[in-house]
Amino acid sequence: MRQHRFHGRFDSGGRECSWPGCEEAGEFRAPGARTSSFDGPGDYRWFCLEHVRKFNAGYDYFEGMAAEEILRAQSPIYGWENTARAFRPGEAVDGAPHWANFSDPLEAIQSRARAHVRRRRGEMAEEMRADARFTPAERGALRVLGLELDVDAKTLRMRYTRLLRQYHPDQNGGDHGHAEKLQQVVEAYQLLKKAAAFG
Ligand SMILES: [Zn+2]
Repeated sequence: MRQHRFHGRFDSGGRECSWPGCEEAGEFRAPGARTSSFDGPGDYRWFCLEHVRKFNAGYDYFEGMAAEEILRAQSPIYGWENTARAFRPGEAVDGAPHWANFSDPLEAIQSRARAHVRRRRGEMAEEMRADARFTPAERGALRVLGLELDVDAKTLRMRYTRLLRQYHPDQNGGDHGHAEKLQQVVEAYQLLKKAAAFG
């Protein structure tokens, strides 16, 4: 019976350590390039004691791997991705896919980024449509009145009435300091009440 000097040592059967340039017997097992999946168990690579320690410590483990592969390799379900995929577009309530829909962290990140871009594009398109309701001069008038681009005619009238009261000298104790502001409000309203958006 062979004497095992170290726990985990296997009979090398003549295998050499697979560390580049090492000619020691490959007596220690480490996960190989192919990982376990439905297709079967993963393969192994074999190292000498020194190099299996380096390998286990992560030394150069990721060398030559793309960032995506590294992220994949660190996933707890690495090797199961192809059988675990469950994402269906449009499934998520908020429009952004949920982490749980993905087996692959990188895919989830990319998908969420794409969803963010789609949402942002949608917001910009909405802003442009709102912009198109008013001419640049009308948009300036809306700013004077403190109104948003989605304002309706009733809100415009109510805001105008309130600002008239606020800035009119007869209604604020004869304070004429607001005269300039009042003039701007009146001009803004005169422009906006004729705006095509309210026609
Ligand atoms: Zn070695």
